[in-house]
Amino acid sequence: MENNLGNLYKNFGISEKDLTRAKKIETDLKETFDKLDEIKLYNQMKVLNAMQKAKLSDIHFGTSSGYGYNDIGRDKVEEVFANVFNTEDALVRPSIVNGTHALSICLNSQLMPGDTMLAITGKPYDTLDEVIGIIDAPLSLSQYGIKYKQVDLINNGDFDFENIKKNIIQDSSIKMIYIQRSKGYSTRKSLEVNQIGEVIKFVKEIKKDLIVMVDNCYGEFLTYGEPTDVGADIMAGSLIKNPGGGISITGGYIVGKKDLVERASQKLTCASIGKECGLTFGTNRANMQGLFLAPTVVNGALKGAIFLAKLFEEDGYKVFPASSDERSDIIQAVSFETKEEIIAFCKAIQLASPVDSFVVPEPWDMPGYDDEVIMAAGCFVQGSSIELSADAPIRKPYTVYFQGGLTYEHSKLGAMMAYNFVKDL
Ligand SMILES: *Cc1c(COP(=O)(O)O)cnc(C)c1O
Repeated sequence: MENNLGNLYKNFGISEKDLTRAKKIETDLKETFDKLDEIKLYNQMKVLNAMQKAKLSDIHFGTSSGYGYNDIGRDKVEEVFANVFNTEDALVRPSIVNGTHALSICLNSQLMPGDTMLAITGKPYDTLDEVIGIIDAPLSLSQYGIKYKQVDLINNGDFDFENIKKNIIQDSSIKMIYIQRSKGYSTRKSLEVNQIGEVIKFVKEIKKDLIVMVDNCYGEFLTYGEPTDVGADIMAGSLIKNPGGGISITGGYIVGKKDLVERASQKLTCASIGKECGLTFGTNRANMQGLFLAPTVVNGALKGAIFLAKLFEEDGYKVFPASSDERSDIIQAVSFETKEEIIAFCKAIQLASPVDSFVVPEPWDMPGYDDEVIMAAGCFVQGSSIELSADAPIRKPYTVYFQGGLTYEHSKLGAMMAYNFVKDL
């Protein structure tokens, strides 16, 4: 049979010239991609070891009913997560509805009235505004008398050690140090695990009983370790991002010190129940299979993000991070001059999708976000941003955030189409 690849690409508006350029970019990126493959290998071995150590077995993929007492699958999944993240315990549940919920549970379970949370990576992800009380909400932490303080990053990505220290020394009510690893909807650098390790050591030397919490969304399997390997006490993320490998259909995880995870579980369920109840609705197998595939899926998504960075960067567009930068999450930001460019970008991503490729994304008022947001996501799992997706708040600077792709090939297609759509405006 003939190789008709060129024709298949033509259906997506990709020309021979585009393909030649893509080849050249891949050649230029070879060294970077080789390094990422080393990281993938490391994480694949780590996950496999974690599963074998926990003696994961076919019997753990069943389901229970009612209270879910003695749900051995649920306990096993949590043991595997604790092994992967090198923590004493884990809470991995389909009843954690998303990343925001996982983070909210951590905050609400560790902080008590009179305590202060100190965010040291600037303002947290938008959906936490109401959780914290940065925007008024009846059940915000602030309504319970929990205070919030913030130290911004300096130089767009370094910790402001001096101000962090000043705050901890001057305010004895500070109980928690909050770190967001990924940039989220901002154009700062994402924090590297080593950097997080340094600041944790620094704050613990000032006051050793501070609880350090990390929002690890989008950061899993990016490098040779996770924030919990360098001293984070409690950490949370979403299963429909990196650690679900595109296979998990819902859920979030919380990992960390045993007593902290126990408190989190009592917030998720209630004081008398904690981790002991709660069905997993048959999600255990998918969560384990997803976790097993996650290092490979993250690797593909990351290569796609770097490919896209290079494609736009060579043409003089502002991209964060640059194609040659170290990465600590899978998000690729590109800034444009106009709203039309981000909309064209998102339309291209939607057209490249395996699901709902025939619908046209439009900006809308999404729950939890302050500005209108446009989202392109033709995903097998709704809203799954480990799958090829792009989103942008409609505000200046017009920055679009591109992420995911269950395979590198798909992520690359999305990148090429987005580029062509923006250029054809
Ligand atoms: C995705 C994300 C979250 C949580 O978002 P959900 O959509 O609720 O899962 C929180 N923080 C960061 C940095 C994120 O990227």
